[in-house]
Amino acid sequence: MEVLKNYINGSWVDSRETATVDVLNPANQEVLGKVPYGKNTAADVESAVESAAKALDEWRNVPVMRRVQPLYKLKQLLEDHVDELGRLITLECGKSFAESKAEIQRGIENVETACATPMLMQSEFSENVASGIDEFMIRQPVGVCACVSPFNFPGMIPFWFLPYAIACGNSFILKPSEKVPLTMMKVFELIDQLDLPKGLVNLVHGGKDSVDALLDHPQVKAISFVGSTPVARYIYQRGTANGKRVQAQGGAKNPVLVMPDADLEMTAKIIADSVYGCAGQRCLAASNIITIGDKKGTITEALLEAAKGKTTGFGLDEGIEMGPVITPESKRRIESLIAKGVSEGANLLLDGRNATISGYEKGNFIKPTILENVALEGEIIKTEIFGPVMSLIHMAAIDEAIDFVNRNNFGNMACLFTTSGLNARTFRNRANAGNIGINIGVAAPMAQFPFSGWNDSFFGDLHGQGRHAIEFFTQTKVVIERWPQEWTRKF
Ligand code: NAD
Repeated sequence: MEVLKNYINGSWVDSRETATVDVLNPANQEVLGKVPYGKNTAADVESAVESAAKALDEWRNVPVMRRVQPLYKLKQLLEDHVDELGRLITLECGKSFAESKAEIQRGIENVETACATPMLMQSEFSENVASGIDEFMIRQPVGVCACVSPFNFPGMIPFWFLPYAIACGNSFILKPSEKVPLTMMKVFELIDQLDLPKGLVNLVHGGKDSVDALLDHPQVKAISFVGSTPVARYIYQRGTANGKRVQAQGGAKNPVLVMPDADLEMTAKIIADSVYGCAGQRCLAASNIITIGDKKGTITEALLEAAKGKTTGFGLDEGIEMGPVITPESKRRIESLIAKGVSEGANLLLDGRNATISGYEKGNFIKPTILENVALEGEIIKTEIFGPVMSLIHMAAIDEAIDFVNRNNFGNMACLFTTSGLNARTFRNRANAGNIGINIGVAAPMAQFPFSGWNDSFFGDLHGQGRHAIEFFTQTKVVIERWPQEWTRKF
């Protein structure tokens, strides 16, 4: 099987690294590709940065209206290839075909939003800040920008950054997750058709070695990272110590409160979709479900029914709602966390361990699982499980539950289900998280809004998407100008 190539300076080239790791289909362990992985990927980064730096001089002076034209074409190409890209995502990442296609749609929406860069980059002008003196601010590109992306949204997350970066006049290097590099290989085949200047957009494979090379390279000016919290913290610290601007989105442990006045049927369905969608491998997956007040029994029953109703299997098969988790190690880790929850005193209401799917016996499948009465002082309540596991907790009142939410180290998302406007208002005001859902199970900001993680879910100042992306990918320059009247009179 061929080793995946890098895309550098407008061409597909072999990596300098000969060691590889396998890209595996998590539903059956079929080898889908071999990706370069090792020390010499740092040399690949060096070539990519060199070509990205060369591409900058010309691109930054291309008028912004012209810089966004390739994005219109990219949107069309992505739409034309949505089935093919969706298939690739399901093959390498495991999620259902419908989830994979929805992911591409979210990516496309970012391309569309970045098409508004000519408006979004507009700036401020003040006439006569002093007599005969005007002052204005312009936005200029920051230079070579790089993105390091995680395994769970191979077709969406790079688009939180790439289209904005190039529309703002920067060049770009993507390092996809070594677990799921195939989707972006296909996307870069499409990018190759855009007639962008050579070196403007590059793709380099690898793991820690290629990431460290990006973090240390003096010509890389900005790093966008999405992944687990320990790596996000590391990327932020090393990147900023090297003088770069860094936005690093990390992990999560998302709480969802259910008030006794919530619409039971709708709430149970939405929460089950949030917990079990993408097999729980979403940074916005609901994890700790807190039932409040006197409806605990009925809500628990409805959640159990909704969880049992999920069909698990290979994501390209008809009617499958939930695929496998990413690796056998991940499956083992999740199953041991379920056991840990039980050892901490939880009741295993639904046990999805040791799941076998006929025809896919080697797959990393875990079926929907529910832990009830999870210990408030234990590990499970605060550990990101990143698998199809719901932890149920009960509390007497909303204040107690909000205090619990605010003890969370993470702050990616917090949701409330209620029919009371006052409860909703109190919650959105007090909850210590950056993305809030009211009767919403996956509060994923649309492309026009920043993906606003807080606390250990985010390191940096400016988030991905929307106006934050424009600010991240530009640096401001303020100009103060004096044009004395007497000079004009001379001519
Ligand atoms: P990960 O942190 O293991 O890997 C992410 C990227 O970092 C990969 O490209 C990987 O090659 C690289 N990497 C891994 N270890 C590294 C190291 N020691 N030094 C330098 N680079 C390293 O994350 P993952 O398992 O691919 O993704 C799942 C995690 O991502 C979860 O924690 C999830 O919550 C989080 N996530 C967060 C968001 C968000 O918006 N906050 C979105 C999606 C996923």
